[in-house]
Amino acid sequence: MAESSEKYNKSPQNKKAEEASEEQIVHQHVKDYIEDLLPKHQGMFKEMENYAACHNVPVIQREVAALLKVLVKTAKAEKILEIGTAIGYSAMIMAEAMETRGKIVTLERNEKMVEKAMDNIRRGGFENRIQIIPGDALKTLHFLPGGYDVIFMDGGKGHYQEMLDLAISLLKPGGLLISDNILYKGMVSSEDLVKRRKRTIVNRMREYLEYITHHQDLPTSIIPIGDGVALSYKKN
Ligand code: MG
Repeated sequence: MAESSEKYNKSPQNKKAEEASEEQIVHQHVKDYIEDLLPKHQGMFKEMENYAACHNVPVIQREVAALLKVLVKTAKAEKILEIGTAIGYSAMIMAEAMETRGKIVTLERNEKMVEKAMDNIRRGGFENRIQIIPGDALKTLHFLPGGYDVIFMDGGKGHYQEMLDLAISLLKPGGLLISDNILYKGMVSSEDLVKRRKRTIVNRMREYLEYITHHQDLPTSIIPIGDGVALSYKKN
């Protein structure tokens, strides 16, 4: 155990860095700058951001939303699978960005979230383009037909590795796997930040990252924005 942890940074450079990185993985001034720079969302998206902040729902940050929009457009995605719907925010961000007016299937096991997301999706006018499948994603993945252009992995952080093989099999060759929260509040990269009750999740996320970054058929890039995003391309 000690051996495997050695490669993870033990001491953030200074106290300020440590405080800032407890909750987020980039310097506050960089985050503030990017957030000021990006156009603010309006209407439903703004409303959902406020709801998420008030109710402690972990939705993607705006800089990650901007990244998803660009990726979905450049991939010319027609079919997207999302694992972890929450209140439907990222699904709606991606649906709006799809120039093909394609479809999104999104999986969520929390019943209250399913209800909230369904309401948001209906109010946003996306009910014909976003389908929520309630239940445990690990089970649902077994019976989904494949052929997705993009898969957004954003479910239970301790379960990415378990879902990976199925997710890859559902992805089209040339498709894109986007994994969210992979640096998990900095805990994944720095031993000092790991909270005790998060130890298992952190270890599993490290295994996941080791696996995808060394997978022959999944060239992968790690992007330290938001809570950490990994982009993996499924080779043809
Ligand atoms: Mg997330």
